[in-house]
Amino acid sequence: MPLPRAPLMSLDEALGRLLAHIQPLSGTESVATYEADRRVLADNLVSALQVPAFDNSSMDGYAVRSADWVQSSSVLRVTQRIPAGHMGQALSSGEAARIFTGAPIPPGADAVVMQEDAEVLDTGGLTQIRVRGVPSPGQWIRRSGEDVQRGATVLAAGTRLGPAELGLAASLGLARLTVAARPRVALFSTGDELVMPGDVEPAHMPPGAIFNSNRFFLKALLHRMGCEVSDLGIVSDRRDATISALKLAAEHHDLILTSGGVSVGEEDHVKPAVQALGHLDLWQISMKPGKPFAYGQLRRLNAAGKAHFVGLPGNPVSSFVTFLLMVRPVLLKLQGVEPPALRPLRLPAHFDLAQGDKRREFLRARRNRSGGIEIFPNQSSGVLTSMVWGEGLVDNPPGQSISRGDLVDFIPFSDWLA
Ligand code: AMP
Ligand code: MG
Repeated sequence: MPLPRAPLMSLDEALGRLLAHIQPLSGTESVATYEADRRVLADNLVSALQVPAFDNSSMDGYAVRSADWVQSSSVLRVTQRIPAGHMGQALSSGEAARIFTGAPIPPGADAVVMQEDAEVLDTGGLTQIRVRGVPSPGQWIRRSGEDVQRGATVLAAGTRLGPAELGLAASLGLARLTVAARPRVALFSTGDELVMPGDVEPAHMPPGAIFNSNRFFLKALLHRMGCEVSDLGIVSDRRDATISALKLAAEHHDLILTSGGVSVGEEDHVKPAVQALGHLDLWQISMKPGKPFAYGQLRRLNAAGKAHFVGLPGNPVSSFVTFLLMVRPVLLKLQGVEPPALRPLRLPAHFDLAQGDKRREFLRARRNRSGGIEIFPNQSSGVLTSMVWGEGLVDNPPGQSISRGDLVDFIPFSDWLA
């Protein structure tokens, strides 16, 4: 007799239950700002200085006193030259200072005339300029503090550091940053059919064997999420070996991630091994691709706390999409980041879907040149070409058919992979 099927759980409910088990990791680390790309800031970053630190010119040109134009005088004596990195002298009425981009505005000056608007008059020894137009006070001056004010919180704890954030931190003089600990993740693959690329030539694959592809994209995804990854290979087909591998992994990792072997009624050693070492929940999530999902916790013998266990479905597209929707929020939360809600774009469908699936479906899709959304013709959960062709997923509610021109929710992969 087949076992009665567990009722399907909505994705939102599954994610809520999953995240309820996750607490941010306690450790922090000091890293060089230069090496901090993709890390998560552990503390608010408060500026100890003004940026820019002083009023400076945003143009190559002449620093002037706009009050000199009251007498509509437009010919000025050039009495000094101020390159970037040098301080000028106070400017008196009737004078201009040759100035370069980034150089401090001299006292008395309140505007910069760009060199294109100044005509240099050759008057024998004395340099004079004639200015076209009337400069307004403040023009071409970058004010002290216009970027950052002293005491301002420029980046909040929980911010994921990217190129712009690192540049901003460096502009405050910060050579090191305190960041959240990296989640330590152990990656296992399951399945007797799996062969590692490189172990067997493609032409000599045994019948029924397939290459292990999940390992490659899961590791890349984990790295993008700032994790430290231990690749523990393919789980052996011996129960005792599986138990000892998991036991060891639990001691030194925050998360053990497997793919494959979570389908109903499947023969494999991971599920009973996790049960023997801790606790395992098997969920059927109302999503496609995806559906079978396992969450568990493994006791540690020699270290404090427990290791989280997540078992993803084996089909490559299911594994990938379930990672984005379920594992990514876990990794964010472990690093102290509140997982953000999905922010789909509403875009017109340039395809028809006669019959929506019973489950919430995530269709591999991309934008065409006219701004409409097209879907990959083969949406099977084993077809990795759909992920490469696609630029994102259409999030389609259960049972919903789609006609050309309907607005659909499109989530670009860049939202997840940035
Ligand atoms: P399972 O979830 O173990 O029943 O696997 C579902 C499908 O995914 C089967 O066709 C497996 O061969 C395939 N599969 C499982 N693990 C991997 C993997 N690491 N790489 C590629 N395909 C896999
Ligand atoms: Mg399997």
